[in-house]
Amino acid sequence: MGDLSKRITSIPESATLAMTAKAREMKEKGIDVISLSIGEPDFKTPKHIQQGAIDAINEEKYFAYPPVNGYLDLRKAISQKFKRENGLDYAPDQIVVSNGAKQSIANVFMAILDPGDEVIVFTPYWVSYSAMILLAEGKPVFVKGSFENDFKVTAEQLAEAITEKTKAVIFSSPCNPTGSVFTKDELEKIAEVLRPHPSISIITDEIYEHINFSGKHVSIGSLDGMLDRTVTVNGFSKGFAMTGWRVGYIGAPTWIAKAANKMQGQYTSGNCSISQRAALVALSSPLDATLEMVEAYKERRSLVNNLLKEVPGFEVNMPEGAFYFFPNVRSYLGKSVNGTVINSVGDLCIYLLEDAHISLVTGEAFGDPDCLRLSYAASEDDLRTAIAKMKESLAKLS
Ligand code: PMP
Ligand code: GLU
Repeated sequence: MGDLSKRITSIPESATLAMTAKAREMKEKGIDVISLSIGEPDFKTPKHIQQGAIDAINEEKYFAYPPVNGYLDLRKAISQKFKRENGLDYAPDQIVVSNGAKQSIANVFMAILDPGDEVIVFTPYWVSYSAMILLAEGKPVFVKGSFENDFKVTAEQLAEAITEKTKAVIFSSPCNPTGSVFTKDELEKIAEVLRPHPSISIITDEIYEHINFSGKHVSIGSLDGMLDRTVTVNGFSKGFAMTGWRVGYIGAPTWIAKAANKMQGQYTSGNCSISQRAALVALSSPLDATLEMVEAYKERRSLVNNLLKEVPGFEVNMPEGAFYFFPNVRSYLGKSVNGTVINSVGDLCIYLLEDAHISLVTGEAFGDPDCLRLSYAASEDDLRTAIAKMKESLAKLS
């Protein structure tokens, strides 16, 4: 048998997907598992978007390879969306549509990183950033926001982390996994640190833009002088409940957009034609369905906040966006039940999966080994049952 490459063996499996696969296996065996591990809307894709795909099939015009960077009318609609909603002036040829925002981000790292180039990753971070940087032979530099500052990295911390090798900075706001949202003022301070370093690219992941309970979303690219070096990542998975359709996109400086297009042209070609037509309908219609979903997330957020506050030993921050809680659970480390010792939050998540039949994700996968992530993109009934069962199982630990 041959050997796998160092490249693939150096990265872990995606923890969000691995926990979800474990939960699915248990469900297939007839065990009633409540999955709070994957960040996936439990809503159906809105009907008018579904209809967009049906119409596209019936038109019989979209069966051939689409352009690698996406249909021009979709890129025009994205360019207008960026202007209208985010104050960002990306021309259609600065847009690249990909197979999910996941591929969008991977393309960018492959396009800009040389071996040893550093990427400052605001931590806690979305699980795949570090693996993608490693796959592109870059070096992730983790800068951790404190619990007291809602896990948000400060401008001072960023300034300290910059070196000659810094090629890019990446963060998500609203943040997966913490739900934190950068204010305009905080982004201004970050921009101020970056202005004297024009060769550092900013990769801002705004896929949770619509799921924001703290006020208007601000894109760092809209701040003075930032657009020329900012890659704005977004997609349809979260705001439009379209995870399975696999449509994400970037707006980027032309040199990066061209390189992402080249990368994609060799790896995957353009994104699924029918999904792109549905995405165009999503962008060209009013946001009513999105706003309804956001209202539901807001209610669930209060419910989960109240329930988690009652869980002994959990330190909880109120998230301002996305659909996750990221409680600090380190008080359970070292406890045990029937000879099983909880040595890490990963052990705690496995225990809760086996004992309470609830799937969660260890914070370690997001760069914080004291926390765990709970997705509240689930029904209120499931959330109530899951947290009650979790509490019972936790009470057995001593
Ligand atoms: N960025 C963040 C912060 C996410 O949570 C996700 C969801 N997994 C993605 C990017 C990728 O989304 P998708 O590939 O479904 O567009
Ligand atoms: N964004 C989701 C999550 O963080 C989807 C899973 C993934 O792609 O990692 O759970």
